[in-house]
Amino acid sequence: MTYVVTDACIRCKYMDCVEVCPVDCFYEGENMLVINPNECIDCGVCEPECPAEAILPDTESGLEKWLELNSTYSAEWPNITRKKDSPADADEHKGEEGKFDKYFSADPGAGD
Ligand code: SF4
Ligand code: SF4
Repeated sequence: MTYVVTDACIRCKYMDCVEVCPVDCFYEGENMLVINPNECIDCGVCEPECPAEAILPDTESGLEKWLELNSTYSAEWPNITRKKDSPADADEHKGEEGKFDKYFSADPGAGD
């Protein structure tokens, strides 16, 4: 089991999650974060910290796509352990539907 970041994070990137993760297993893309499923210890402390409710346990059904995405991109994107400023328009995209198709970017973020 692991926790995964879903598309609710896209263009929100509030980054409250990275501050609480005890094993620093978040990785930064251009407009979302992902969790490395091999490093996550399933502690669950990040889940309630996310204002966008983007983090879910992979025991919930229908998350296979997100588990695969988290696994793939955590191997490519840089590690992030410190909260930075979120995008200026983050609140406008909170709760928006279909963000993956509209905005997903495979480009890496800056990391720490
Ligand atoms: S707190 Fe939620 S929205 Fe913010 S970066 Fe983490 S997963 Fe994404
Ligand atoms: S569940 Fe725990 S170990 Fe896994 S990403 Fe969240 S804070 Fe980190």
